[in-house]
Amino acid sequence: MSLGANLGNREETLREAVKRLAAEDGVELCAVSPLYETEPWGKTDQPRFLNIAVSLRTTLSPEALLELAQTVENDLGRVRHEHWGARTIDIDIVHIEGVERNTPTLTLPHPYMLERAFVLVPMAEIAPGLVVKGKTIEAWKIIAGNEGVTRVAPSFIW
Ligand code: ADP
Ligand code: MG
Repeated sequence: MSLGANLGNREETLREAVKRLAAEDGVELCAVSPLYETEPWGKTDQPRFLNIAVSLRTTLSPEALLELAQTVENDLGRVRHEHWGARTIDIDIVHIEGVERNTPTLTLPHPYMLERAFVLVPMAEIAPGLVVKGKTIEAWKIIAGNEGVTRVAPSFIW
């Protein structure tokens, strides 16, 4: 999963989000990436994001995992304003092994995330060899580059 925050106490929000995901029945946190600060993508006149990637094992269905992600977003005060706009927290499911989805509410693998450095750079720290759509995360990362993505802490303590 890819988590990003660009409003309020960004680091605290990410920490709380990781805690809430990890606390859920049927969810086991496997790895959390270092902390990155990134330039906003798309709509650029907004504060910088903090981003992390997490990997987890879960017995939840993909749909239930999305629901959990959205519950955590809402509980942490995310107000949906505009696509690509500023947000307290954004939690996206990038990939679930062996799963493809193409419904109005869930697309897997995530349609844009394999093009975005702010997702791929943190993700490559925890899952460089993971193959998604025929390429490793490391290979997708090299294609995307790392412009605007800076590591701000060697690990993310949650
Ligand atoms: P974005 O993340 O694109 O900036 P939102 O977080 O507001 O925008 O998400 C918009 C919608 O994307 C959500 O309501 C959700 O149903 C849908 N969605 C589709 N695929 C995914 C996915 N893989 N992970 C998270 N959300 C997804
Ligand atoms: Mg989202």
